[in-house]
Amino acid sequence: MTQTWPIDYIEPVFRPPSEAHSLILPLTNGCSWNKCTFCEMYTAPQKKFSVRDEKQVLSEIQRVSEQMIVQRVFLADGDALALSTRRLLTVLQAIRENLPTVQRVSSYCLPSNLKNKSVSELQELADAGLKMVYVGAESGDDEVLEKVNKGETFASTLSALTKLGEAGIARSVMILNGLGGRSLSAQHADQSAALMNATQPEYLSTLVVSFPLGDARFKQRFPEFEPLDQHALFVELQRLISQLELKDTVFRSDHASNYLPLKGTLGTDKQRFLAQLQQAIEHPETMALRQEWQRGL
Ligand code: SF4
Repeated sequence: MTQTWPIDYIEPVFRPPSEAHSLILPLTNGCSWNKCTFCEMYTAPQKKFSVRDEKQVLSEIQRVSEQMIVQRVFLADGDALALSTRRLLTVLQAIRENLPTVQRVSSYCLPSNLKNKSVSELQELADAGLKMVYVGAESGDDEVLEKVNKGETFASTLSALTKLGEAGIARSVMILNGLGGRSLSAQHADQSAALMNATQPEYLSTLVVSFPLGDARFKQRFPEFEPLDQHALFVELQRLISQLELKDTVFRSDHASNYLPLKGTLGTDKQRFLAQLQQAIEHPETMALRQEWQRGL
C-alpha cells in the first residue's frame, strides 16, 4: 500500500539550511509582511499570506505520527510566530503528545511578530518546545532598513531579540552583507555590529544580498544602490566582525551566496576570521574563494 505525504504543502516552501532534516510543518502560508524589496521568497500568487486551518494542522500532526519518527520540527512558512500564543501553544502541545521523540521545534520570526508577546508568553512557548527562532535582522541600520522596506528598525529588532533571550529561546540571526550598497556600507556594518553586541545572539550568519530575479523591484525604492564587488563585500564583513564583541556566538558565513566561507565561534575565532578576511582583501588569488558558478543563488 502506498502512503501519501501527510502534509499538504503550497510550493515553494523554504527553510533554513540547518533544518534540512526537520519535518517542515506550515502553520501559515507566505509571510505576513512580504514587502522587503530584496526578498522573493513569497512573491508567487499562491504564496499570499494566510493562516492555515488549525484542524488541518492538527490532523497533519496526527498523520505524521502514524508514518514517521521525527526529531526536529520547523514551523513554516515565513513567520509562524505571527500566530497568537494560544494557537502556537495548541500546536506545540499536539507535537509533544503525538510526536514524543521531537527534541526541538523552531521557526522563522519577524521582530514585529513579538510586539504584542510578553516575555512570559515566550517562556510558555519555550516550555512547550519552541527552542529556537531564525530572525532575519538583515541590518542594524535604520536607513538601510528603510531603503529595503524591511518594516523593522534597530529598536524593534533589539526589543524582539532581547525578549527571546530572556525567555530562553535560542536566536539565530541573519545579516545581509552588501545590503546598503556602496553608499551605506560603513553604517550598515557599524550598526549591525552594535545590534549584535547589544543582543548577544546564540547564532549569527551572514549571507550576500543577491537578486536572482533581477534588481528592478529593489531599485525602485533604493535607486542609488550600487552593489558591492567581492573586494568591497570583504571590507564590509571585516568592518562588521572587527566591531563584534560577542561572548559565545556561533558564526557562519558558509551559505552558498558567500565568496569566503567562515565558520567558528565569536569571540574565540575573531582574530582568525579577521586574518582570513585581510588575506582575501589583499591577496584574493591565494584564497580558496567560491567562484561565481559555485555560488548557488
Ligand atoms: S520578512 Fe522575511 S520572509 Fe517576509 S518579506 Fe521580509 S525577508 Fe521575506
